[in-house]
Amino acid sequence: MPPQYSHLAGVEFDPEVIARYDGSGPRYTSYPTADRFIEGPIVAQYVTALHKRQDARSGAALSLYVHLPFCDTVCYYCACNKIATKDRGRADVYLDYLELEIALIRAEFSAAPKVTQLHLGGGTPTFLTNAQLSRLMQMLKQAFAFTLDAECSIEIDPRKLNDGTLELLADHGFNRMSIGVQDLDPAVQKAVNRLQPAELTQTVLEKGRALGFSSINLDLIYGLPKQSVSTMQATLSTVLTWRPERIALYSYAHLPERFMPQRRIANADIPSATEKLAMLKLAVTTLLAAGYVYIGMDHFALPEDDLAIALEHGTLQRNFQGYSTQADCDLIALGVSAISRIGDTYSQNHRVLLDYYKALDEKQLPLAKGLVMTRDDEIRRAAIHDLLCQSTLNIPSFERAWGMNFTTYFTHDLAQLQKLECDGLVEVTEDSINITPRGRFLARIVAMRFDRYLREAKSITKFSRVI
Ligand code: SF4
Repeated sequence: MPPQYSHLAGVEFDPEVIARYDGSGPRYTSYPTADRFIEGPIVAQYVTALHKRQDARSGAALSLYVHLPFCDTVCYYCACNKIATKDRGRADVYLDYLELEIALIRAEFSAAPKVTQLHLGGGTPTFLTNAQLSRLMQMLKQAFAFTLDAECSIEIDPRKLNDGTLELLADHGFNRMSIGVQDLDPAVQKAVNRLQPAELTQTVLEKGRALGFSSINLDLIYGLPKQSVSTMQATLSTVLTWRPERIALYSYAHLPERFMPQRRIANADIPSATEKLAMLKLAVTTLLAAGYVYIGMDHFALPEDDLAIALEHGTLQRNFQGYSTQADCDLIALGVSAISRIGDTYSQNHRVLLDYYKALDEKQLPLAKGLVMTRDDEIRRAAIHDLLCQSTLNIPSFERAWGMNFTTYFTHDLAQLQKLECDGLVEVTEDSINITPRGRFLARIVAMRFDRYLREAKSITKFSRVI
């Protein structure tokens, strides 16, 4: 391990300090965060950013994201932007509109843009029939030039997987998958309306491996109704026998006033904050003991996985899909509510399906809001990136990169770090800011100290809790 990143070897789970800092906070899949985007015309800025990219950075890595919003049934914990339906025909209509959106974007480029990464997310991407998935891939491959080694990933719901879908995806070059599991206990699954036998998940995972999917992620959630330390223990024991390359461990945020499906969950079934913390502790210590590397935020990976290697080499990135290995990659996002980032411009499509369709009927890019980053946004984004991806910020390098005096520029922010320093979460020296092993589970608390919008905001209650 290179000496400059050796601090990443250590991670310390201190329940007392984690409980003390529990509160709402952004996940920083972008900075500024999406709630800062401004409603209104952003098409001209987005198109300018696409043209600038073509003129100056056409060889740089480009990621594509396609949002497929349909779900056959609704999991009660879910806070995603999805549409519940059993009508597969709705996906045909959606694909018609995606085709229009792709054509509008392609028209801004003189040649098919090179794509190094594709992610299909949702909703439930496997809601689509095999014919619909084939049509989608054909549309994408006609408009974009996929590199031979492109990372292609998809979110898989084992309950909604048609015969032959995994084979079809493998034929189209998919090499990564993320499987929603959450918890294997039948009582927990019943309480969240997601019945998914362990054997089914295992079959999909093993089939994926046999077909050449080289990195498989499992999503787990702690804090669900009817969950306890013992259900968590049992779930982890089974999951670890499968040895997925990556595990994402998310905290369930019970916000029934904001997310209608959560109203189906009985408050009495929700574990207490103490139980939830005990589950988190158990999960973290179990995963570390099983040889998983803590990547950051909610993510763990086996040491040989690309994410763990990128962490060790100091090349880890963070984007709308969470952690990534692709360096500072532009992202074209397609579909309802999808968020793109090209150069200094963020832009988000309409969140309501009919608004998305209406804009495309009018031959307009379906953008509803966005933001062109200021220089201050870019500087703070870089600082937050270093802290979340490398757990360290090298002050002399940062000053050279941005042509500024760090201590002067961040006087207020550095003062905000003092309490965290007293609690042993962070060390500030003349040359660096280092998140300590004790602070790594609270890295976003450190990042929040550099978020100018939070400082100016009236409230941050709309963000998820830290644990
Ligand atoms: S968790 Fe996934 S499958 Fe369940 S409702 Fe949400 S998006 Fe749909």
